[in-house]
Amino acid sequence: MAQGKGDIGLIGLAVMGQNLILNMADHGFTVVAFNRSVEKVHAFLANEAKGKSILGAESIPDLVSKLKSPRRIMLLVKAGAAVDSFIDQLVPHLEKGDIIIDGGNSEYTDSERRCKDLQAKGLRFVGAGVSGGEDGARYGPSLMPGGNKEAWPYIKEIFQSIAAKADGQPCCDWVGNEGAGHFVKMVHNGIEYGDMQLIGEVYHLMLALGVDQEQMADTFAEWNKGELDSFLIDITKDILRYKDSDGKHLLPKIRDTAGQKGTGKWTAIAALNYGVPVTLIGEAVFSRCLSALKPERETASRALPGPTAKFSGDPKKFLENVRQALYASKIVSYAQGFMLLREAAAVHSWDLDYGSIALMWRGGCIIRSVFLGQIKAAFDKDPGLRSLLLAPFFLDAITKAQDGWRNVVATAVTLGIPTPALSTALAFYDGYRSERLPANLLQAQRDYFGAHTYELLGKEGTFVHTNWTGHG
Ligand code: NAP
Repeated sequence: MAQGKGDIGLIGLAVMGQNLILNMADHGFTVVAFNRSVEKVHAFLANEAKGKSILGAESIPDLVSKLKSPRRIMLLVKAGAAVDSFIDQLVPHLEKGDIIIDGGNSEYTDSERRCKDLQAKGLRFVGAGVSGGEDGARYGPSLMPGGNKEAWPYIKEIFQSIAAKADGQPCCDWVGNEGAGHFVKMVHNGIEYGDMQLIGEVYHLMLALGVDQEQMADTFAEWNKGELDSFLIDITKDILRYKDSDGKHLLPKIRDTAGQKGTGKWTAIAALNYGVPVTLIGEAVFSRCLSALKPERETASRALPGPTAKFSGDPKKFLENVRQALYASKIVSYAQGFMLLREAAAVHSWDLDYGSIALMWRGGCIIRSVFLGQIKAAFDKDPGLRSLLLAPFFLDAITKAQDGWRNVVATAVTLGIPTPALSTALAFYDGYRSERLPANLLQAQRDYFGAHTYELLGKEGTFVHTNWTGHG
C-alpha cells in the first residue's frame, strides 16, 4: 500500500487516466488519483489499484494536500470545458511553482491560452500530447509535452520513465513553448488520418482486383517485413484475418462510414490558416466526410455511370506497384506534416527539434513505424532540412517508387476507383518539383478582374497592373 506523499496527482479515471496511473505506479512513482465522480476513485482503489503505490483523493483540497512540492497534477479528462473547470478549481489551492499538466486531446490554442493565464498566476502549465490509446497509456505511450519549460525538469523523469522506448530511447522529450506539445500531437493525429486513408485506398484497389481477403492479409504481413513496417499495417493484417462467430470475415460486414473526433480536421484547418499545402491529410478528412454520405452514395451508385474498363494487367506486379505507391505517398504525407510544423514553429517562435519529434512518434503511438527512424536520421543529419523529399534517403526511395506509383494512380482513374490520398500525393509531388506552375495565369486573371497586380519574372518586388481590355 502507498505511504507518504504522492509524486504526482492524476485527475480523470476513464480509460486513459487509469492506465497512465498504473503505468506510473509500475515505474515506482506514488500517484494520487481523483475523479469528478468520486465513486470511481473508490472503485479504482478497490480493484485495479489495489496493492500498488496509488492513493485516492476525495476532493481537490485532499488531492493537493497529498502531493509533494512543487505539486504535479495531470488532467486526463474530456478536452474543452472540463479542463478549464478543473484548472479553475485547482488554482486557489496551489502555490507558486506548482505544475498543471493537461494530457487530453486539447486544441493547441487552448493550451497556449492556459499556459499564459497560469504563468501570470505564477503557476506552470504543460500541454502534453499523449498517444497510443489504452495500451499505450498502460505500457508506454508517446508523450509530447510543451508549455512552460520551467516545468520540464520536474516532470522529465516521470514522463520519460513511463513513455514507450524506441531503439532504447524514450518516445518523449520537451517539444516547445505554450501550445507546441498539443500542436505536434494534432499533426500526429492528422498524419494518422492520412496513413489510415492510404491503407483504405490500397484495400479498395485490392478489392477491385479481386484479391481474396486472406491473400490481402498475407500481402500486408509481407509488406510489414519491409520499409512499410508499422503498427497500422500490422493491425490491418489482423483485421483482414479476423473471423466473426459465424466463421466469416468480419470486415465486409462493417458499415462503410467513418467517424472522426476532430483532430484531423484541426490539422487541415491549421494547414489552411498557415497556408501550407497539407493536401493528403485534407483529402483524408474529406474522404471520411464523403464516406458518411452513405444514403446519398447509395442513390448515386445507381444513377452515375463509371468506366467500363476492367483490370487487364498482371495482379502480382500491380500489387508491388501498389506497395510502392503507398510508400511514396506516405513519404509525401510526412513531408507535408513536417512543413506544417516548420511554418507554425516560425510563427510561434517554437524551437522544434524535428529529429526528436520523429523519435517521439517512432514508438508508443498509432503512427509508430520503422520509417520514422529514417525521418529521425534525415533530420539528425541535416537539422535545417527544408523538405523530407530532398533528404537523400527519401529522394532515392521516391525515385525508385515513382513509376509504380504513377501506374497505380493512372489505373485507379481508368477503373474508376477513388484514390484521393494516393492521387493528391502524386499531384503534390509533381507540383513541388515544378519550377514553373500555371500560377502566372492566375495572377493575370486576378489582375484582369480585380486589379490585384502581378510581378514580372526577374523584377520580383515590383507590382504592376495591366489594362487587359484597353477600356478606360
Ligand atoms: P474521456 O471519455 O475523454 O473523458 C472522461 C473523463 O472526463 C472522466 O474522468 C470524466 O469524469 C471527465 N469529465 C467529463 N466531462 C467532465 C466535466 N464537464 N467536468 C469534469 N470532468 C469531466 O476519457 P479518456 O478516453 O480516458 O480520454 C481522456 C483524454 O485523453 C481526452 O482528452 C481524450 O481525447 C484524450 N485521449 C484519449 C485517447 C483514447 O484512446 N481514449 C487517446 C489519446 C488521448 P466522470 O467520470 O465524472 O464523468
